[in-house]
Amino acid sequence: MKIDQNQALTPAPLPLMRARGDDGAARFDTSALMEVAARPPLVFVEGRGSWLVDHAGRRYLDFVQGWAVNALGHCPREIGDALAAQSQRLVSPSPAFFNDAAIRLAQRLAELSGLQRVFLASSGAEANEGAIKLARKFGSVHRGGAFEIVTLADGFHGRTLATMAASGKAGWDQLFEPKVPGFPKARLNDLDSVRACIGPTTVAVMLEPIQGEAGVVPASAEFLRALRALCDERGLLLILDEVQTGVGRTGTLFAFEQAGVVPDIMTLGKGLGGGVPLAALLAKEEVACFAHGDQGGTYCGNPLMAAVGTAVLDTVAQPEFLAGVVERGAHLHRHLQRLSEEHRLAGERGAGLLRALDLGRPVAPAVVAAARELQPEGLLLNAPRPQLLRFMPALNVAFDEIDRMAAQLDRVLHDI
Ligand SMILES: *Cc1c(COP(=O)(O)O)cnc(C)c1O
Repeated sequence: MKIDQNQALTPAPLPLMRARGDDGAARFDTSALMEVAARPPLVFVEGRGSWLVDHAGRRYLDFVQGWAVNALGHCPREIGDALAAQSQRLVSPSPAFFNDAAIRLAQRLAELSGLQRVFLASSGAEANEGAIKLARKFGSVHRGGAFEIVTLADGFHGRTLATMAASGKAGWDQLFEPKVPGFPKARLNDLDSVRACIGPTTVAVMLEPIQGEAGVVPASAEFLRALRALCDERGLLLILDEVQTGVGRTGTLFAFEQAGVVPDIMTLGKGLGGGVPLAALLAKEEVACFAHGDQGGTYCGNPLMAAVGTAVLDTVAQPEFLAGVVERGAHLHRHLQRLSEEHRLAGERGAGLLRALDLGRPVAPAVVAAARELQPEGLLLNAPRPQLLRFMPALNVAFDEIDRMAAQLDRVLHDI
């Protein structure tokens, strides 16, 4: 795909930042990149807060935010400062040695979560792969070799072979065969379906508190509590994948707090790094049974990323900040509710700043494309399902940016 700035969309004025490429020569040849996703013909060159700027200087209000990653928006001062300071002190002493930045982040996560042991990783899939390995290790040490992990239809846990097998994404069961065995599938909010999957070799149950990629589908608090009780009764581990829901996204630091359950193992990613590759696997003391050599990785506990994680938590874990997420979530909820009523759509759902609008018919990809092309500035949205829009703005998104998004979406919905 050739992207030529001279053929690009009309540049809009830039109240927030300067356009780039005014030498007229910015031309991008994307043919060296593997084709792994359909991408629109634009190239982002700058971001700040809730705004992105493309190669032609056009501005976009961003309600995707790196896929619920940029907890504090694009290029926040907190992350820039942490990266600058840490990059001057220590970047990579090797995972064979302790470093102060990783110790600090692990202690912080342990205090905040109540799970005493932390393994730092670089991606959600890597953290989940670690969770699966830890559960299997626990099974081999404490449960006579039990290894099966009950997972859910429509769940999403990542793109490594084991996490793809753990995922219940439609179409994935046929890909890259043979996959890793041992992930029977139950249904969300259906305890009997979980019970039916449990056998003598079951060691754990693994799920997202809100299924993000499936379209923001929440596990009910009753279901999570019943699962916790079932796991206790049968001696199984409860693994919560909070890669998308964790770190303030749903209005509490961790989504599990809202159901009043504590998992045995939890994974974090996305928002934890606020935009840099950082993830974490957390476990209760009695579950953290890895022996030396079982788990590791070149970048695990990398101080440059760990420093960013601590900076993100310094802000996001503040009670006032989390209260702000709840208020912003309520504000977004009211707008989406109103749009649903005015345009006779099928409703709104979600928690905090992870929300979805059900359009009632399969026009979400068309809405996403039209929103991106809006004048004078585009709007970036995500369509996880053909009839569903997902909203995952920065956790510090301004109220008037939510108003602006709703007004832009209103225009698109009128035209579709
Ligand atoms: C995004 C996501 C993952 C995978 O994280 P990566 O960093 O892309 O590997 C895993 N689980 C959930 C719930 C996610 O939303």
